[in-house]
Amino acid sequence: MNARSLSYLLVLFFSAISGQVLAAPFQMGTATLDITPPVGYRMSGYFHERLSEGIKDPLLAKAIVFSQGDTVAAIVCCDLVGIFNEVAHNSRQLIETQTGIPPSHVSITATHSHTGPLYFGALRDHFHAVAVARDGTDPHEQFDYPSFFTQQLADVVQQAKENLADVTFSAGCGHEDRIAFNRRFLMKDGRVKTWIGLNHPDVIGTAGPIDPEIGLIRFDSSAAQPLALLSSYALHLDTVGGTLYSADYPFYLQEALARHYGDHFVSLFGIGTCGDINHADTQAKERNKTDAIGAMLSESVLAALPILMPSAEASLAVKHRVIHVPKQEYSAERVAQAQLDMAHVGDRTVETMHRVETYKIVALEYYKQATVPLEIHAFRLSPDVAIVTLPGEVFVEFGLHIKENSPFDTTLVIELANAAPGYIPTKKAFVEGGYETVNSRVAPGGGEKMAASAIELLQELKP
Ligand SMILES: [Zn+2]
Repeated sequence: MNARSLSYLLVLFFSAISGQVLAAPFQMGTATLDITPPVGYRMSGYFHERLSEGIKDPLLAKAIVFSQGDTVAAIVCCDLVGIFNEVAHNSRQLIETQTGIPPSHVSITATHSHTGPLYFGALRDHFHAVAVARDGTDPHEQFDYPSFFTQQLADVVQQAKENLADVTFSAGCGHEDRIAFNRRFLMKDGRVKTWIGLNHPDVIGTAGPIDPEIGLIRFDSSAAQPLALLSSYALHLDTVGGTLYSADYPFYLQEALARHYGDHFVSLFGIGTCGDINHADTQAKERNKTDAIGAMLSESVLAALPILMPSAEASLAVKHRVIHVPKQEYSAERVAQAQLDMAHVGDRTVETMHRVETYKIVALEYYKQATVPLEIHAFRLSPDVAIVTLPGEVFVEFGLHIKENSPFDTTLVIELANAAPGYIPTKKAFVEGGYETVNSRVAPGGGEKMAASAIELLQELKP
């Protein structure tokens, strides 16, 4: 027994004889590992084949581990477009072996960077099969990225656990409404189109809200030194483009926080529910560039840090649930046609929505049952502060709904966790149409069930 556990036992003993119940110390640890693939690997984010040609800034996996008494939990934020469910499964098995943290207490999330590797899914499998048929081997996958990434995830959580130390934390929200825009537009005929723009003569207005809230939890050492910030904001990470690897705008947030607090400071960014939110201000002449978006977000984060509420009493707990929602159904003929059309999925001369639907129908075949599993985590850090993680590209309406109905003062809702089931639109959006509903695999109503389950988990966690 080390000195720390001995002193904790003594605290327990004296609190027992004095009739007081004292909480165990709350600890936090972070670690960062590089997950950048070799240059030449395929890149994700679009429907055509795109090869990486260099590195703008490195892709990172950042882990945060929480511990209090017997409860240990971890969240990992990765600069990737999404998390392959097999990697989420295998890495969490490995994490349990290496650290003892059970899979139900670990959430692996992606930030949705569109300038990272295309390492899984129907599109990757298609380009890979074409390369193998042509060359006998895939020249762009001479490196087993899923295996590498799986091991990095286990190692980064292990390192974060080794860095556990007593901390205090404060939480609250910042406000940023200059860089996020709802990208769905209501047309005169009652339909909705994505990426049309307010200036189009047939557009009546935007079809949904944005979420200007920046969820913030800052962790300080017991000597009051700021150590790390977990932040969450709902804005699609597709602001860079090109063929250089990049973490997109969260890179600039990390840089700004390091300038403010020192190089030791770790910025963990969890992407908010931004299925229908992007950075295109369709009334502006030019789109904001990544560095400008990062600078504005950083400015709003830094402005909010002094007003965060210190959490008086930590009480770590985790709830975890997998729900199964119906998947979209297509006839055998339509599936067979999509499998044929897949040959042209990367052909930019073919109409985009046709390629998107082709890809989606083929991707649906990856599910062996009639349902799509959706895994939800809820982490309570204190009676006032909670974090929810959800799979998929979730519509902003669901994040807003979960936060409005959360019994916690501060709730961070982070999407793209542990699997990649595509877009999760609202029932209303399915009626309206638009790109996101074409590129979704769950049947209408699945998102509403997922949001209701998340709220239930939060209510169960409220002390
Ligand atoms: Zn997306």
